Amino acid sequence: MPKILDGASIATAIKQEVGEEVKSLAARGVRPGLAAVLVGHVPASEIYVRNKVRACAELGLYSDLITPPDTVTTDEMLTLVAGLNARDDVDGILIQLPLPHQVDAKALLDAIEPVKDVDGFHPVNEGRLLAGRPALAPCTPAGIIEILKRSGIPIAGQHAVVVGRSDIVGKPVAILLLHQNATVTICHSKTRDLPAVTRQADILVAAIGRAGFITPEMVKPGATLIDVGMNRIDTREEFDRFFKGNEKREAAFAKRGSVVMGDIDPKAFEISGAYTPVPGGVGLLTIAMLMANTARAAKLRRGL
Ligand code: NDP
Repeated sequence: MPKILDGASIATAIKQEVGEEVKSLAARGVRPGLAAVLVGHVPASEIYVRNKVRACAELGLYSDLITPPDTVTTDEMLTLVAGLNARDDVDGILIQLPLPHQVDAKALLDAIEPVKDVDGFHPVNEGRLLAGRPALAPCTPAGIIEILKRSGIPIAGQHAVVVGRSDIVGKPVAILLLHQNATVTICHSKTRDLPAVTRQADILVAAIGRAGFITPEMVKPGATLIDVGMNRIDTREEFDRFFKGNEKREAAFAKRGSVVMGDIDPKAFEISGAYTPVPGGVGLLTIAMLMANTARAAKLRRGL
């Protein structure tokens, strides 16, 4: 039977550790603070940001939710970021993506003080990550490493194959795995004979954004499968392709008219050694690592 890598219990453990850290910082008169900037009304973004603000409250961090309208300009956003960079009560700045098309997202991310860049997207932090001197590492990739380590999955010497090369998931997770001494292969849409590569993986990370893209034929039996994908499926045909006969999923689909699934076909989980479910896997770590980064940013900025 494959082992289910339970994101909930690992995220809870990390949050507890952050909560302890926040208490010890409070004793020194420091309260880590997160400024979350949510532009306009993107429903998924509203849920993500609400959960991040709620996590701050649970762990004793200060948070400030800033909600510019979706007509905001790049200049207005740059002024906002400059203000947050200057505020002493703000240790971490999070700009929820995606942004409206008229806003230059790269310019904004580059404008955040690297020491307050709790998403780890600033080029300075990307460079530090590459150089093996991470200050603030991107949350989802850092969460993946925590899942593997805390579940006792060996990384050193293993062949890790990462499918996806985005700046926010694929590339940074590949670098983090390399720093943990995995032998790393990065795949993308131009990779030739992808199944032949993924079948070599001891650890397979799927960060593609296509529901059930990784099929059993692409997986070496016994491999560890890390599913980063979050895809909403809302047609009966697609639902039946992956979940026909699954009573729990059937009930969720009947209730909401859609379900969320990852980039890995559930049939591939059956032949794995261990896997992260979706939901309930990697996604839960992202917020826990954001909290950890905010506490870390508070210490870094004060030289603690
Ligand atoms: P991007 O769209 O930025 O990147 C997708 C990557 O997949 C690209 O590198 C692309 O290759 C590759 N790809 C696309 N099609 C294929 C193919 N046919 N064969 C091989 N590679 C392919 O996505 P993100 O990295 O931002 O996100 C990936 C998934 O992870 C999404 O479902 C997203 O929702 C989810 N996600 C989940 C998070 C969480 O907290 N759980 C956080 C962030 C993302 P190429 O570069 O050649 O185009």
